[in-house]
Amino acid sequence: MSRLIYIPFDQLNVERGAMRVADKGTDVIVLIESQRMLTTRPWHKQRLHFLISSARHFAEQLRADGWNVDYRKAATTVEGLEAVRTSTGIRNIVCAQPNSFRLSEQLTAIGATFVDNDFFLTPREVFQAWASTQSSFTMENFYRAQRRRLNILMDGDKPVGGTWNYDAENRLPPPKQHDWGPELYFEFDDIDEQVRNELPDSTWGELNTKVWGTTRAEARAQMEHFFTHHFADFGPYEDAMPNQSWRAHHSLLSPYLNNGLLLASEVIDAALERFSHSDIPIASCEGFIRQVIGWREYVYGMYWYLGENYRENNHLNAHRRLLPLFTDSSKTHMNCVRSVVADVHERGWTHHIPRLMVLSNLALLTGTSPQEFLDWMREVFVDAAEWVMVPNVIGMGTHADAGVLMTKPYASGGAYISKMGQFCKGCAYDPKQRTGENACPFTTLYWDFLARHESEFSSNHRMFQQMAGLRRLSDIDSVRVRAHEVLDGLEQGRI
Ligand SMILES: Cc1cc2nc3c(=O)[nH]c(=O)nc-3n(C[C@H](O)[C@H](O)[C@H](O)COP(=O)(O)OP(=O)(O)OC[C@H]3O[C@@H](n4cnc5c(N)ncnc54)[C@H](O)[C@@H]3O)c2cc1C
Ligand code: SF4
Repeated sequence: MSRLIYIPFDQLNVERGAMRVADKGTDVIVLIESQRMLTTRPWHKQRLHFLISSARHFAEQLRADGWNVDYRKAATTVEGLEAVRTSTGIRNIVCAQPNSFRLSEQLTAIGATFVDNDFFLTPREVFQAWASTQSSFTMENFYRAQRRRLNILMDGDKPVGGTWNYDAENRLPPPKQHDWGPELYFEFDDIDEQVRNELPDSTWGELNTKVWGTTRAEARAQMEHFFTHHFADFGPYEDAMPNQSWRAHHSLLSPYLNNGLLLASEVIDAALERFSHSDIPIASCEGFIRQVIGWREYVYGMYWYLGENYRENNHLNAHRRLLPLFTDSSKTHMNCVRSVVADVHERGWTHHIPRLMVLSNLALLTGTSPQEFLDWMREVFVDAAEWVMVPNVIGMGTHADAGVLMTKPYASGGAYISKMGQFCKGCAYDPKQRTGENACPFTTLYWDFLARHESEFSSNHRMFQQMAGLRRLSDIDSVRVRAHEVLDGLEQGRI
């Protein structure tokens, strides 16, 4: 009996998901370009272009391989699926378990049946089993369990190299002189151009260069490029924010991992292959493996484990509207923020430290609504998806979940950004000052944030040092006055 095999835009892989069970002789492969998805928010051009063009290329490849494909535009996904049902006369819709609560509910409501989602290394029930035995959800514990379960970088039951974690060798600041390696850009083809011309006016950001490949071949090329040119130095400079390179030595693979053009398993296999046949330092290999089998799987597992309402958490009662500098980098003189927002505007991407210690840190310290900030992050990052943004922003970035994910907030003043980045030299402010006109807004706001939440954080033993530091400040009253000026200035776009 014929079936409609529905492929969402984040499951573009012929070997996984519903394609596994599809029959070329009888089934119709369905992809829907939801117009609501396109127009409801000021999405970044790079993001929309990447998602739509990848899906159209995927559909074209399937057709070339002899599949019967129905790719159509519709007001919403559900309306599109109903229209395909009507035009083909086929009622039966099969899909892999979707990656969000919302799509799961919509497809369940129209009677779709689901096959297992095998785009991740950790089946949901395996994660649930792990989480249900934990008193706190420490990523490091999950990561070690993953290493054992998947038998990756293991020597019997011991970690290869004798230690689980090489952070002590990693996390170096950017050196003054360093070869940050070459970049790989792609050429727009006819499908890319067509999508580019169709983007709605409501978009944000630039799309002058094709930073993000839109085919599996281009995704594989980016993977090869990373392993050849950047993998060896990935570990030491994982947290560095150099001003000579927007990527540092990061892989740029998240968009492809998230839309199915690459699989985590093939990325891990390629990493282990390079590690065993070349002189890749273990600190770089382990650091990268940790991101993919640890962080990525942990965040996906926690998204499902914590449930649909987790995204509404606002434990610190933060209600400030999104600051204008997030959508217009010229609205601030803070060099770090201006540079990072400009990077995001250009490519829809920046690595984990600018996301965490610049953008999220600013949202956290200014008491910005976690939900408004989450919406903005979802709109502007090329790799954003509900399952990955929600835990990263609500849990890690803004501490809005009262520490369910991370036991302490990732809050810092200008000292961290000054140490790990190269922004402060060209900045109007001084990271060491907390009061006065030249004070770094991060430094001022950091102490003000601790003071505002003193009763909350005093009972958190992991915040002991910071709170002791706060109690030693003799000028906290002046800091708080300056913090008010800074917050006003940020709202008016003059700080
Ligand atoms: C506030 C915040 C928001 C984030 N939002 C997203 C998002 O919307 N989409 C997204 O894919 N990643 C997100 N991340 C994680 C991380 O920043 C990106 O995965 C990474 O910067 C992508 O670049 P890369 O592929 O070069 O990563 P690399 O540094 O080369 O890491 C390799 C891979 O590890 C995975 N990874 C690493 N850290 C995480 C993490 N915390 N959560 C999930 N996967 C991780 C990614 O798949 C990534 O491609 C966020 C992190 C923070 C702190
Ligand atoms: S001084 Fe402060 S605001 Fe300026 S770049 Fe450094 S950390 Fe950012």
